[in-house]
Amino acid sequence: MLVTEWPKSMEAWTRTKRSLAGGVSTGLRAQARPHPIFFSGGAGARLTDLDGNTYLDYVLGWGPNIIGHGHPQLVAAVQGQIEHGATYGSGHEFEYLAAEAVLDAYPAFDRLVWSNSGSEAAQVALRIARGATGRQHFVKFSGHYHGWTDPVLVGYRGGRAGSSSAAESLGQSENASRDAVVLEWGNLDDLRATLTGRDIAAVVLEPVLCNSGVIEPPDGYLEGVREICTETGTVLIFDEVITGFRLAFGGAVEKYGVVPDLAVLGKAIAGGLPLSAVVGKSELLDLTQAGVVHAGTYNGNPVVLAGALATLDVLKREGTYERLDALGRRLASGLGDQLTRHGVVGAVNQVGPVVQCALGVPAVRTFTEFMGADTKAYDLLLVELLRRGVFALPGGRWYLSTEHTEHDIDTTIRIFGEVVSVSSPGVG
Ligand code: PMP
Repeated sequence: MLVTEWPKSMEAWTRTKRSLAGGVSTGLRAQARPHPIFFSGGAGARLTDLDGNTYLDYVLGWGPNIIGHGHPQLVAAVQGQIEHGATYGSGHEFEYLAAEAVLDAYPAFDRLVWSNSGSEAAQVALRIARGATGRQHFVKFSGHYHGWTDPVLVGYRGGRAGSSSAAESLGQSENASRDAVVLEWGNLDDLRATLTGRDIAAVVLEPVLCNSGVIEPPDGYLEGVREICTETGTVLIFDEVITGFRLAFGGAVEKYGVVPDLAVLGKAIAGGLPLSAVVGKSELLDLTQAGVVHAGTYNGNPVVLAGALATLDVLKREGTYERLDALGRRLASGLGDQLTRHGVVGAVNQVGPVVQCALGVPAVRTFTEFMGADTKAYDLLLVELLRRGVFALPGGRWYLSTEHTEHDIDTTIRIFGEVVSVSSPGVG
């Protein structure tokens, strides 16, 4: 066993590896440095690990815990339902109550379907788009992520190392992945040329490129994409798995005022419980009752939907998004100041409560610039942050919740400054 400052986590990970492949529930979590930390619980913006250390949490379960850990309203809602059963395989009142709450946030739309993860919902959206248009292919953009399934796991990090195919995974269906036409984000001429006269059912994109640098769309770009899709009869899908209920109650649709044909929601929608949805107009969504197969034993689970209703109720309180945005700005400008003060080359981006910190590059305005960041130096920095009680994601993204305070953020900025000032080898 390696020497570690987190002996109980290491012990738990070693034991977990004997039964669970890699000792982690998703491959990405194996990237955690120095090794995965095992937690015993969370409260508000804090997590406690098996060794008894407490951290300010900027991982938030990779995004979902937007109202923090153990929020009393969420806990009460889940407990209130689970006592009456975990699932019915038939209708119940939370199905419409939660659906109405989501549609309140997306007033341009009048229908949704439930599913359990962002990956699933993205598949449903693409299937609806193909069903509606009778076309086969779809456009996605380099660096944008839409889940781990065969058709969409292309052009995310540039293909599997050592392989000439665009597919990112060993074992991925080459046929399915050929449905995607991968373009550079931000170029309307390319998009117009690709969509004109081609067999393209849908354009799917992250309205803010959160998965690769937290990059906002260029001015007028979303409007341009909307126009080209309308002209060519292509279904425009916003993947709002990160941005939904996070940039505004109505996500990127509300923030940028551009209405796609379908929006895919996940993560923040249920405060940490597994839920996703596709929202849109009834003409498209009702295809799921007219030939487009959308299935799932756990779809519309009552415990999860009770939790979603409670989460949305907390989020829609007056001032939530102004506060989340202010916290995001405070963190971003604090991290940026520390980099400048200590002469460390780096870039900080921010949209609402989502922040990206990249080392070794002066700016991150494109996927290519994001890919130029020094991830090894960032990994070293993450370990130093962890040692000082700050838990953040590999890759440089930070998430804030309604439970973080200005004081938490100032503490984090001070710790970040301390870490970059000792300038761990490789940082700078
Ligand atoms: N779309 C986007 C934009 C995402 O960020 C993610 C997950 N990070 C997904 C889809 C897939 O969601 P899930 O992990 O819930 O399947």
